Parts: sequence; structure tokens; C-alpha cells
Amino acid sequence: STPVAIFCALTKAAISGLLLKGGDYLETLSRIKTVAFDKTGTITRGEFVVTDFSSADEFNNETLLYWISSIESKSSHPVAGALVEYAMLNSIKPVPENVENFQNFPGEGIFGRIDGKDIYIGNRRIGLRAVCERGDCIQSHEISSSKKQCGGETLVGVLSLVDACRTGALEAIEELKLLGVRSVMLTGDTSQVAMYVQSQLNNAIDIVHAELLPHDKAKIIENLKKEGPTAMIGDGINDAPALATADIGISMGISGSALANETSHAILMSNDIRKVPEAIRLARKTTRKLI
Ligand code: ADP
Ligand code: MG
Repeated sequence: STPVAIFCALTKAAISGLLLKGGDYLETLSRIKTVAFDKTGTITRGEFVVTDFSSADEFNNETLLYWISSIESKSSHPVAGALVEYAMLNSIKPVPENVENFQNFPGEGIFGRIDGKDIYIGNRRIGLRAVCERGDCIQSHEISSSKKQCGGETLVGVLSLVDACRTGALEAIEELKLLGVRSVMLTGDTSQVAMYVQSQLNNAIDIVHAELLPHDKAKIIENLKKEGPTAMIGDGINDAPALATADIGISMGISGSALANETSHAILMSNDIRKVPEAIRLARKTTRKLI
């Protein structure tokens, strides 16, 4: 009977790693036309490693690393952990207590005041902010992007980081294609980095959107929904508005932020995004049986 079939399918999906927060989502899942993926921490591991660090002449590396790691200690972004670890590897101990006025700018980076200095750390956007506010900027970027200076005199350091695609990311996208489901990448990162990740996936992703702020991601989901039921999968605090807007918002259970896991309609219990096409296949089979 109907409820039994749904119960069985929900259980099966949960065992395979996708926990749906309600029986109705199974039906929605069976009709999904588009799956949008966040990049950092969803398609990629979100485990950054610092490959290069340089500081402007008038600053020494130790001081800069002490500032960076102290401020980043207050952030939960995947980049933050890598920067703190890099400082520790260089025998620098972060002192978060010395940081005042810490601020997080989603999709951009962070700010903190330390030793009487206003320090901004993040991408080009945060660089513009640093210029406006007359602070000092440390630019963090992935090595696949070209080195763009964030604003003349304000730039006091450049950090390069690498992050790799998750195992199974390409298979997940290819499997969606076989199911006739369109895949989209949404990222706050630069288009250079987005296109680099796309090339790592044999350009299999149908649409790539870069340099997005959290509300831009939600807006794009709204537009995608006009063309059919849309799922969004993401991990970050910055993905929460998009997860809520999607017909099915899926959060990364293990590595996902608390807000993402609260806002989502389904939780991926492993970090294996191949479970998404698998669940769509299962949902289609189940709903077909019900008709
Ligand atoms: P995505 O949408 O791909 O998950 P985010 O929106 O979280 O990416 O971040 C976009 C960019 O902002 C990062 O690639 C990084 O350059 C910068 N950024 C965000 N938070 C931080 C931080 N705590 N420290 C340094 N850079 C940061
Ligand atoms: Mg993310």
C-alpha cells in the first residue's frame, strides 16, 4: 500500500545516506529537473591547503601570520581552518582574545582589529571593502585563479590555497545527466576558480554561476524553479537562503553548518554526492509503483 511503499523508500534512502525530513519530499525528488550544487565543501572537499604566502615588504611574515591566524580562529569557513593550521605549522600561535570587532562577510571574507590594525582577509570583494574603510587587506585565493590585487596600497599579503574535488563528484554529475537532470554550480568564488573546478569535471556541469552572494544564490534558485522542480545542495551558512528557496534543499550532514542542516529539507549523511542521483532514481521507482 501507499504509506508502506513510501516508508520503505524513505528507509532505503536513509540507509543509503540521504535523510528526507518528510514523505512528500520523495515525490518532489522524483520530479527534480535541476540540481544546483554549491562549490566549496560540496563539489570540492572544502579542505584547503596553503601553497604559497607572501607579505608586503614593510610587514614580516610572522606578524602577518599571527594576525591572520588570530582573526581566522573566529571563523568557521573551510579556508579559516587551513590558515590557522598553516600558521601553526610555521610555529605561530593564534591569540583570538586579542581580536576586536570581528566581523564575517559571507561570500567575501572576514574582518578583525588586532594590535591597533584593521585587517580584512578574503577575496577581491573584501579588498574593495578594505579600500573603502582604509584597512589592510590580505587576499586569499585558490591557485587556479590569477593573482588579482585587491586594491593597491591596502594589500599587505597574498595567500594561495588548493582544494580538491570530492571523490565521486564527476560520477554524480554524469549520473544526473543520464537521468535527464540538469546540473548547476553556484559559488561565491571567482569565475576563474569556478571554471577550473568545471574543467576538473570534464566540463560536465551544465551551467556555472560564480561570484555570488548568499542572496544571489537564492535568486538563481528561484529562476531555476520556473523551469521545473529544483534541488539545491550545499554546506555553508551562506547556502541557507538558497536551501530554503529550493523545492528540496539538501545539506551536507557531516561537514555542513548547523544553519544549513536546520534549513534543509534533506540531509546527506555521508559526504558522497553520488547519493543524490541514487535517491532520485529510487524516488522515481517508488512513485512509479504507486501510480
Ligand atoms: P562558496 O560559495 O564556493 O562555498 P563562499 O561564499 O563561502 O564560497 O566564499 C567565497 C570566497 O570568500 C572564498 O573563496 C574566499 O576567498 C573568501 N572567504 C570567505 N570566508 C573567508 C575567510 N574566513 N577567510 C578568508 N577568505 C574567506
Ligand atoms: Mg560551501
